[in-house]
Amino acid sequence: MSISPAIPTASAATGTEASAPGRLVDPFGRAITYVRISVTDRCNLRCQYCMPHEGPDWLERETIMSFEEIARFVRVAAAEGVSKVRLTGGEPLVRKDLPKLVDMISSVPGIRDLAMTTNGTLLRKFARDLKSAGLTRLNISLDTLHADRFKEIAKFDMFDDVWGGIMAALDAGFAPLKINMVVIRGFNEDEVVDFALLTRKYPFIIRYIEYMPIGGDQAHWERGKVFPCADIRRRIEEREELEPVETDAKTSGPERVLRLKDSLGRIGFITPVSDEFCAGCNRVRLTSDGMLRGCLMRDGEVDFRGAFRNGATDEEIRELLYHAIARKPEKHLINSPDFVHSSFYTMNRLGG
Ligand code: SAM
Ligand code: SF4
Repeated sequence: MSISPAIPTASAATGTEASAPGRLVDPFGRAITYVRISVTDRCNLRCQYCMPHEGPDWLERETIMSFEEIARFVRVAAAEGVSKVRLTGGEPLVRKDLPKLVDMISSVPGIRDLAMTTNGTLLRKFARDLKSAGLTRLNISLDTLHADRFKEIAKFDMFDDVWGGIMAALDAGFAPLKINMVVIRGFNEDEVVDFALLTRKYPFIIRYIEYMPIGGDQAHWERGKVFPCADIRRRIEEREELEPVETDAKTSGPERVLRLKDSLGRIGFITPVSDEFCAGCNRVRLTSDGMLRGCLMRDGEVDFRGAFRNGATDEEIRELLYHAIARKPEKHLINSPDFVHSSFYTMNRLGG
């Protein structure tokens, strides 16, 4: 569901006199400093846990936000205290000229951290251009180290492209490099130790992510397929000693971080299902069709694309932003009987 409200004034939007000008604070006291932007719903893979089983029906091109609209949104948000942006998708690198968008956003005053989440398949071609355009960090998604399993889950035989992309990213100077592994019971939980051991050889931060009930073939998700991070940690500790790591809250996100002895990298656990971290949530998401969403797992979007295309001024965009932040939900409902799968905003439209 998306809404196109009459554009409110800042004070009506927040329900207060604008008592904290320049700060986006939601009704639960959380300062919003981080925006994740899905630049396309399209992708060159079809991961079962992400893409709908049928279709997918790509969004019409004209409904996707232009680079100019995205950069303008970022400029307005940065003036209100947003300092971190992540580009995601779909696969962000299938969007034409993506390094140009990186260049546009990296030059916005106030943006100190510009990251991207990618499936890595196109990084051999783009890693250097992204670095020189001002991308500061990369997360690459990889769920298995076996080419046959990769083809089974992602539907394309591109494991070697991803691994080549990871090496290209290291060569281009993206280190440490975050590797996102969605752990699914019965599919890849037997590889969690192998992923941790990669940190002995490479400067990787392996991030184990619990399988979430969003996007994908919704019949594919079952609670029994979630392999909780506590079990992952136990498995690793049966083999290896883990040490805690002090992290920079600004860049480490919601994961808890540890490392193997004598390693170059680290491991982190992201526990949206077994141990929600909503109380510290500092982010909102802009979907590929320009809707601002306060929570990955709850419908209720605010329409920025409509505002841009109806000639809104920067001041009106700013007020709409305050309005959207005032509607950010307190928490997701995955573990509640009221939880409903989003039917329209699948993971590839939301960006994870
Ligand atoms: N195409 C890029 C990629 O795969 O990295 C960016 C978009 S993808 C939607 C962003 C992240 O969401 C990926 O790390 C992916 O593994 C994760 N993801 C997708 N569906 C998920 C699910 N059902 N549960 C947990 N993580 C999921
Ligand atoms: Fe594409 Fe990323 Fe979704 Fe896989 S997880 S289908 S690579 S958008």
